[in-house]
This record gives sequence, structure tokens and C-alpha cells, in this order.
Amino acid sequence: MSHVKDMVIDGIKFLIYDESQPILQIRGLHKKYNEGKSNEVHALRGIDLDVKRGDMMAIMGPSGCGKTTLLNMIGHLDKNSGGEIIINNIDTNKLSDGQMTAFRRDNIGFIFQLFNLFPFLTAVENVETPLLLKGLNSAVAREQAKMLLRDLGMGDRLYHDPLELSGGQQQRVAVARALITEPSIILGDEPTGDLDSTTSAEVMALFRRINNINRQTFVLVTHNRWIAEKCDYIVHMIDGKISHVEHGPF
Ligand code: ADP
Ligand code: MG
Repeated sequence: MSHVKDMVIDGIKFLIYDESQPILQIRGLHKKYNEGKSNEVHALRGIDLDVKRGDMMAIMGPSGCGKTTLLNMIGHLDKNSGGEIIINNIDTNKLSDGQMTAFRRDNIGFIFQLFNLFPFLTAVENVETPLLLKGLNSAVAREQAKMLLRDLGMGDRLYHDPLELSGGQQQRVAVARALITEPSIILGDEPTGDLDSTTSAEVMALFRRINNINRQTFVLVTHNRWIAEKCDYIVHMIDGKISHVEHGPF
């Protein structure tokens, strides 16, 4: 479902998508934590958003405005309290729990801040894990993980543990782990938050390269204006709502 077919040009695999529909449509989305209790928090208060296939979008806004909540809703890590999220033409409210697990695995990649790698697994083991969870043959999974890591300039670090890698290298492994299943949407919550500015620039360049080659869609939360301006547009949030959208190029 994530892409229609593959095409190989000059050894680079392109994913061919049905371009006619937005990859992500959000309608009237609400999220309440501790709903109905005295400590209820109304974190999302009616979000409407269309994201086209291949967009690179940044989300900015003050702490507590709902950025992480929105990302978690898009990633379906948590249930919403009202509204619709349509990804790849599928209304995700209609999926059963079992279907949701498969849907999430096949369509969405997560890149969080640093130190989200499995510390006792090597780089290549970290990257092949999502494929093994999908039931892929272990030799095939290993080969695909190696290929992607090599493509990301990590070919000489395949068997290192995360702690033997620099911050930028760890983030490359995390990026590879998110991309290995070829998700159509990649979500990042402050994906460069723990990196110095040079390494952040490298990671953003890497995202843009992947975005250009495969038209994979990126939704990135950041508090860094410079990072946000590497995206196509910036969605600004205040108090659980979208206040305005700023369009690039910046
Ligand atoms: P941001 O990422 O923009 O800083 P969050 O999405 O984390 O904001 O939080 C939005 C609001 O929801 C905040 O008021 C926060 O305290 C609250 N919140 C976030 N997660 C939870 C939770 N698991 N339980 C209760 N309240 C939460
Ligand atoms: Mg947050």
C-alpha cells in the first residue's frame, strides 16, 4: 500500500506513488489526556491539515502547545479523542488494533532524539530489527540493513555498538532504522535536538536527499528556526491549534 511500484535508475531505487491524493489528511482532530477527570488536559483542539506526498513539513510552537501530541496522533502511538486521520487514503479510525499495528509498521517511520537505539545491538542489528518484526528472512534482512547503512555512509560501522558511535553516526543508524521498511511518512520529534549544528546540518541534508530520491514525506517537530527553514513549510502551533502556516522557500 505504501507505494505503487519500484523503478531502478542508475542503481538507485525509486518508489513510484499514486500522487493524486494527499498522503495525510487531518480533520477536526482533538486529543484529551485524562478525559473526564479533574486533571483533564485538552492538548489538541481541532487540527485540520493536509500534507502532500513528498512534502517536508516542520512543526514549531512553544513548549506544551501540543507538537509531540500531534506527532503521536499521526504516528498512531496513542488514540485520538475525536476527528479523523487519513493516511494513504485509509481512515485510520476504521482499523482494528491488529490492522493498526500492521498499518503503522508499513506506513510510518519514527526518528526521535538521540539514544533511542537498542544499546546492546550493533548498528546493523538495530536497522534490521523492523524487518525481522515484519517476518523477513534473517539473511535478507541483514543484507538490506547493510545496503542502507552503506548508502548512508555507515559501511565501516556496521558492527559497532551505539556507544561506539558519534552522535551523528547514531542518528544515521536511527534514520536507517526508520527508513528500512520504506514508510511513506517519516516522523521526527526534535530529531536533531541533541546534535551540534554541523551534525544537525548533515542530518537535515540526509533527510532532504531521501526526500528527493523517494518522495517520502517528512513531518519534523523542532524548536530550531534554522532547522525548520530547511523544510518546505512551517506549521505553527499555539495552545493545541494551528495558528498559521509559513511557506518557503526560506
Ligand atoms: P509539546 O510537544 O508542544 O511541548 P505536548 O504535546 O507534549 O507539547 O503536550 C501538550 C499538552 O498535553 C501539555 O499541556 C502537556 O502537559 C500535556 N500532556 C502531554 N502528554 C501528556 C500525558 N501523557 N498525560 C497528560 N497530559 C499530557
Ligand atoms: Mg514535545
